[in-house]
Parts: sequence; C-alpha cells; structure tokens
Amino acid sequence: MKNQVDRLNQQFQDARDVQAVLDYFLNHFSGKIGFASSMGAEDQVLTDLIQKTNSQTKVFTLDTGRLPDETYDLIDQTRNRYPDLRLQVYFPRPDNVEMMVAEKGVNLFYESIADRKLCCFYRKVEPLRRALQGLDGWITGLRREQSVTRQQLKLVEFDEDNALLKINPLIHWTEDEVWKYLRQNRVPYNRLHDSNYSSIGCAPCTRAVPQGGALRDGRWWWENPEHKECGLHRKNQELTLEKV
Ligand code: SF4
Repeated sequence: MKNQVDRLNQQFQDARDVQAVLDYFLNHFSGKIGFASSMGAEDQVLTDLIQKTNSQTKVFTLDTGRLPDETYDLIDQTRNRYPDLRLQVYFPRPDNVEMMVAEKGVNLFYESIADRKLCCFYRKVEPLRRALQGLDGWITGLRREQSVTRQQLKLVEFDEDNALLKINPLIHWTEDEVWKYLRQNRVPYNRLHDSNYSSIGCAPCTRAVPQGGALRDGRWWWENPEHKECGLHRKNQELTLEKV
C-alpha cells in the first residue's frame, strides 16, 4: 500500500488542478470511493466539483446531534441545489451516546481533553468508520494552512485507522481560493461564515474567531492548538471501540 501511496503522490506531485485529481480518483475508484463532507467551506467546493465530475459518488456527512441550526439548513440547501447528490447522513449509535451521557453528562467535552475526545469518538469517529465500510478510499477537504496539525499533509495518504486511501485534493488551496470558488460558482455555504466563524463543527465546541485569530481558533478554544483534531483525521487513534 505504501508503494501505491508513493506512486500516486509522485504522479500528482505538482497537481494544483483539483478537477484533474478528482477525475482520476472518482473514475479510477468509481463505486469504491466516498467523500466525507463536514459541510464546511472547503467541503462545499468539493461537493460542487464532485457533482460536476461524477454525481454518483457517495457523499456523506456526520450528524453528531450537536450541530448548529445553520448547518442543518445548509444540508437542505445543498440537497436542493444538487438534485443528483446522494448525500447520506450518518448518526451516532444511540446506545453509545446514552451510556456516555449517563456516565459523564451532556457537556463532558469541557471537563478534559480525554472526555472531549470520547465525545468526538462516539459522535464522529465511530459513525465515520461505518460510513467508510466497503470503500477503498475517501476524499477530504483538508488544507495545509488550516492549522499546525495539518501542515505536513500529502495529497494521498494511507489512513491506517480505516485501512484505506485518503485523498486531500485541496491541500495547496488558500482560504481566498476557497471563497473565490464558492462565490464564482454560487455554491451554498454555512451562513455562520458571515459572522466570523471560519471553521464550523458542533455548536458547543465552535465559536466565532476574533479579528486576527487563526482559522481554527474558534474550535475547542479551551485547548492547545496541537490537540485540536476530532479524531477523524489523526493517525493511530488513542481510543478504539474496545477500549472505551
Ligand atoms: S465537537 Fe464537541 S460536541 Fe461535537 S463530537 Fe466533538 S466534543 Fe462532542
């Protein structure tokens, strides 16, 4: 698998043409590749491009049960904008959430990093694993400039936790390029972005970024930057279903 990852990164090492990257992966892995959308700005770019490339591609999002109303509105707007879009919504397993809340309360994420990761695991990581079953690869909207935890991203990576390829077509894009694309193509986006929310996740763990702040300063603002991943994009998960 490492050879395949190296070969693909070599093949696309200078590829800033995202459409060409999508053309290759959506057709080469047709039926075996999915796009995980958080409904964020980058992911809306990719949803638009994927609809123009191969509208039968599996596109899915995770409803953690704690999303802002604005994100639910965007899900509906996106479905209306793209009639051929096969947007699947995955939910956490109720028994997992009920057990967690009974033991630790509804807002456990403010208590410790471990509790926050536990919540992210049950509400995001476990549903993601289900969504990825049967696929050989998944596409994400990660960009290198988003945070200190993403600066080493490669176009193609091997996702050890889920044992499949992970393709990040927007790694080179700047925030300006994302917004230029959205505006030029009239792509729907989360209206919270108009209120200085640069990165949007669950409502209790997201807030507006103060003027001059970094892109992900509004996510888990009570934690240090190096801890700010929800578990969807980390190698070697610290938590597994068996351990929690
Ligand atoms: S972002 Fe917050 S509410 Fe959402 S799953 Fe993670 S800890 Fe839970």
